[in-house]
Amino acid sequence: MNTTRRDFLKALAGVVAAGLTGTYRADGAEIENGKFTSTKPKVLPWAGDNYTLGHRLRDGDIPKAPDKADRTADFVIVGGGMAGLAAGHFLKDKDFVLLEQYSETGGTSSGGSYRGIDFSRGAVCTDRPYGLKADLFTELGLKPTVISAEETAWHCYGQWHKDIRGNDRFHRELTRLQGEINSARKDINLADSTFSQFLSGYDREFLNLLDNTAKAFFCSGTQGVSAGAGFFMVRALTSDSYVCDGGNSGIARALKSSITGSGPNRCATDCFVWSVERKDNGASVVYSDSSGMHRIDCKHAVVATPPMVALRIIPELPAQLKVAFAQLEYGAFVVANICMPEKILQSPYQSFADAPHPLTQLILAEAPYIASGRYKPEMGSVLTVYYPYSYGAAGRAQVMALNKDKLAAALINELSALMAPIKNHVEQVEITRWGHAVIVPRPGLSSLMNKSNQYTTEWMTFAHSSAGGGQSLEGAISAARNAADACLRKLA
Ligand SMILES: Cc1cc2nc3c(=O)[nH]c(=O)nc-3n(C[C@H](O)[C@H](O)[C@H](O)COP(=O)(O)OP(=O)(O)OC[C@H]3O[C@@H](n4cnc5c(N)ncnc54)[C@H](O)[C@@H]3O)c2cc1C
Repeated sequence: MNTTRRDFLKALAGVVAAGLTGTYRADGAEIENGKFTSTKPKVLPWAGDNYTLGHRLRDGDIPKAPDKADRTADFVIVGGGMAGLAAGHFLKDKDFVLLEQYSETGGTSSGGSYRGIDFSRGAVCTDRPYGLKADLFTELGLKPTVISAEETAWHCYGQWHKDIRGNDRFHRELTRLQGEINSARKDINLADSTFSQFLSGYDREFLNLLDNTAKAFFCSGTQGVSAGAGFFMVRALTSDSYVCDGGNSGIARALKSSITGSGPNRCATDCFVWSVERKDNGASVVYSDSSGMHRIDCKHAVVATPPMVALRIIPELPAQLKVAFAQLEYGAFVVANICMPEKILQSPYQSFADAPHPLTQLILAEAPYIASGRYKPEMGSVLTVYYPYSYGAAGRAQVMALNKDKLAAALINELSALMAPIKNHVEQVEITRWGHAVIVPRPGLSSLMNKSNQYTTEWMTFAHSSAGGGQSLEGAISAARNAADACLRKLA
């Protein structure tokens, strides 16, 4: 199980007592005498999930739908996360409307901005662009900054270690793991065995680090995720990162601009979809906005919501998909963006702390600006902090019950103890809650999700990034491409 809030406070006391030091350091100036003395930074309103309408849908408290459509379009895209936006981009010269429940698009790849630094509320980076992803970046004119894998720090054996190469105990374990992954027997069933089954003979401290890193990625430790997911994680961590301004929210923003630039009224926000039904040779989509309930008839619907929502809004979903979707477990996450008007931390791009530390992953959002020579001191600094909770209903309930002011104060104290005394230098904190952040990649997930991979009928296509198993930018783009092709076939 992941750490709970109580564990967090306990761990906080432990870290302070241990007086951890290491890679992180203050930038020259005497921080304790710094200019910013406010100990109470501004805590912005919650970002992320809001379940007011989602719970009405779950409980069957569904408003009456109009019988007749008040609008038609060739295609309706449900959900404005990365997959829905990419589907819209692929269909940008066609007649479609995208419906997103929140006031902003991007979903788990959304972001914000502080003094000219864009930051992420979820997805932060990707690996080397290839195939569809490379083509998409070219079409959008995106040139992510390449940040070397050397710009990574790891907390293990009671201290920080930088880089992926070195001769100390930590690096010897990491090199051994990389070697074992690269030479793993081809007949090992990576999808159905656990990552921990593969990890024998490693130091306990190193395993603790891997466990927390798996939580940072998947909301579950090495015993709860498949070996395939673990291998993917280690390869991602030991490869260069391709980072847009704002992380992957920069990609979501570019997709939205592509859609809105191609025609008016195509991206409708604050529109909650209640049902997607088969109608004649196409589909009918019921949604609500501030003016009431509406219905749009279309030739084909693209459902780019998480499977759990698809399960509820598509009454005609085949039984085998319903059964598969009902078995998925979702991890809950808090992602905090700690905004500072001065650059206090001269640290690597990303860092991972070992178990039982509650803050598993830390990202400096200004890194792509610095690496590409666009950083100015007045931009300050934004630290993006990932705090995974238990997967399932328990973690979700904890996350939704949090007090944001207390959490912000605890996070700042924790970071001050772990990295550098940032305490009096924080101007604002934005905390994002994700109740259904990621589907935990348990052994067996790929065979469950195989049924939904490329799932398409005459009247609808399921196009969430998770459709093929792993939830990632690549998964979103390939699901979107599949859905756009299904739409184009309807016009042929
Ligand atoms: C904390 C975190 C970190 C991550 N880091 C990375 C990373 O570094 N790299 C990476 O590749 N991936 C990362 N991911 C995975 C990320 O989820 C995917 O990359 C991608 O953003 C998923 O896009 P999506 O469109 O499939 O799904 P989502 O982001 O889940 O989007 C679904 C959309 O549907 C909308 N919606 C849901 N229900 C309704 C409804 N009833 N009506 C209307 N709209 C609805 C939602 O509001 C949302 O906008 C991370 C995820 C999280 C949570």
